Amino acid sequence: MSSKKPGFNTVCTHIGEIEDIQFKGAISPIYLSTSYAFEGVDTKRYPRYFNTPNQEALCKKIAALEKGESSLIFGSGMAAISTTLFAFLQKGDHIVLQRTLYGGTANLINEEFEKYGIEFSYVDSQNVTGFEEKIQPNTKVIYIETPSNPLLTITDMKAIAGLAKKNGIVSMIDNTFASPVNQNPIELGIDVVLHSATKYLGGHSDILAGAVISTEQNIDQIFQVAKNFGGSLSDFTVWMLERSIKTLGLRVKRQNKTALKIAKWLIKQEDVTAVYYPGLKSHPDYEIAKEQMRGFGGMLSFELHEDIDASKFQKELKLIKSSMSLAGVESTMLSPSLTSHALLTEEERKNQGIKDGLLRFSIGIEEKEDLIEDIQQAIQKVKKLALQY
Ligand SMILES: *Cc1c(COP(=O)(O)O)cnc(C)c1O
Repeated sequence: MSSKKPGFNTVCTHIGEIEDIQFKGAISPIYLSTSYAFEGVDTKRYPRYFNTPNQEALCKKIAALEKGESSLIFGSGMAAISTTLFAFLQKGDHIVLQRTLYGGTANLINEEFEKYGIEFSYVDSQNVTGFEEKIQPNTKVIYIETPSNPLLTITDMKAIAGLAKKNGIVSMIDNTFASPVNQNPIELGIDVVLHSATKYLGGHSDILAGAVISTEQNIDQIFQVAKNFGGSLSDFTVWMLERSIKTLGLRVKRQNKTALKIAKWLIKQEDVTAVYYPGLKSHPDYEIAKEQMRGFGGMLSFELHEDIDASKFQKELKLIKSSMSLAGVESTMLSPSLTSHALLTEEERKNQGIKDGLLRFSIGIEEKEDLIEDIQQAIQKVKKLALQY
């Protein structure tokens, strides 16, 4: 390769690949050994030390995708998130977090942190002053998610990174929803980037994995905790994930394009009362989104008119599957009030703007006409059924 840095899809396809010296095959061989010859205390290989050939190769690719110096991959997104948080927080420390977090992350904070003597504060707005107000002398980490789940609010990454730097605090982001195709938080000054690789990096709804990307120094700090917590990823899944990432750029760019078109179509429908997509000019955070994102992502949410029962509508969909997860090549939908946010009280949901008729839509790679037709026919069906009673 020339000295010029390879472009995104070239990184996806080639960076970190293992050369098949023995047989000259086109793809990385897979090394499943859990036992390697002893070559010295500092070089001993073992899957839980995050240093098998396939793990090291994939980490190079993921670090390159996020423009970071180094990375580690884990057995799940939550393993990456919990290990990283515990690597930077100890008894007596404090963390400031965005309120609209992924449910699993919120559970980790709410159910575990008190036991370990770690204090936390949630910020109810994405406004940087909201974060600033919560900073205490013992604050060690600021943690954000943008776009957020399920209303796709946008947090200003540069402003958060600046605030963290000014106060000597580590900034962290869960970049799962955007994927490295649409934004690279490290370029905007964020210190640590986390991913549930179960979502866009995997992209086919068949891999559970997580990743963290940062400087060599931060990754070493995380590694020291990670080898004790033991959340490493099996080499077979590592190999599957390497294969999946080869098409990451192609998949997500296509999903961006279809999501924008469907958002623009949905907003014109009289049976739809609201559409939440950061690529729409009507989205309150459109300007920040445009500033910090290269594409607006494959996730959107919308509200059906209150006369249309959202769960009946979902049952009438033929192509779009009902699914708790997201970011696959197949389009899926869920009702946050019945699933991901069901454990919140009605009051909490109302405060976060999550109505009963809200549907979260993960756009796949199907033809947009087929997706639109599916939505149309399901709306008509539910309306017809309503008339019969
Ligand atoms: C799914 C998800 C996670 C958790 O990842 P797992 O792989 O399920 O452990 C974290 N953050 C976001 C935004 C997610 O969507």
